[in-house]
Amino acid sequence: MSIIKLSNVSKKYSNGTTALRNISLEIEPGEFAYIVGPSGAGKSTFIKLLYRELKIDRGSGSVATYDLSKLRRRDVPMLRRSVGVVFQDYKLLPKKTVYENIAYAMEVIGKRPREIKKRVNEVLDLVGLKHKIRSFPDELSGGEQQRVAIARSIANAPKVLIADEPTGNLDPENSWEIMNLLEKINLQGTTILMATHNSQIVNTLKHRVIAIENGRIVRDQEEGVYGYDD
Ligand code: ADP
Ligand code: ADP
Repeated sequence: MSIIKLSNVSKKYSNGTTALRNISLEIEPGEFAYIVGPSGAGKSTFIKLLYRELKIDRGSGSVATYDLSKLRRRDVPMLRRSVGVVFQDYKLLPKKTVYENIAYAMEVIGKRPREIKKRVNEVLDLVGLKHKIRSFPDELSGGEQQRVAIARSIANAPKVLIADEPTGNLDPENSWEIMNLLEKINLQGTTILMATHNSQIVNTLKHRVIAIENGRIVRDQEEGVYGYDD
């Protein structure tokens, strides 16, 4: 059974811009897929629908066991347990330590302190930043901040990890380090969906490539290529 399924999904913003038109797509558990396409194509909108930052306005969709059109506001935290999200600008809480940033994601879903402590140490170990556990985000490099954000995103062991341009603010060395982590997380069974403009990464670490242009899926290839000049 697909872990992500969209059928004829459209999304129009309140100012009249149609960002997605009739998107249908299935992603199987354990897949790694890149979302590519020019700026303004609809990639971010697509991703926001999946973690219910935005509501689908036509068509239907499901992620893990959740029906995106039927999900009530109070059930959104439940969806977010199954879907981890990583952003280009990390979005760490600036006044919280590394430990607290990750712990917070578990506190909000009611995990017990002992389990939180154990898991925070586990995910920080995975991203190689246990020694930064007491640091604040502004004491870390961009690459380190993104590694913390990845640790946070997987703290609740989500089935799906969504990343919107996770290497967009990083130099090549840090970008590859982030990709190594995402590969490792994928090999542990997490489905990964990643929007990116990084042609080198897409053309080197081969995975499914879904291209969106003008709100439509125009290409969907197994072991695909980036396919744009930028
Ligand atoms: P991408 O991530 O591929 O750059 P987006 O999903 O951000 O594309 O944008 C798709 C289209 O929707 C663009 O035309 C963009 O200008 C428009 N758009 C994005 N966000 C909003 C918004 N909040 N309000 C109105 N239009 C938006
Ligand atoms: P104990 O295990 O004896 O309770 P501490 O409470 O001093 O020891 O915490 C030791 C470990 O607990 C830290 O290395 C870290 O893993 C975790 N920890 C708990 N709360 C925090 C916090 N606010 N900031 C950093 N680390 C914390």
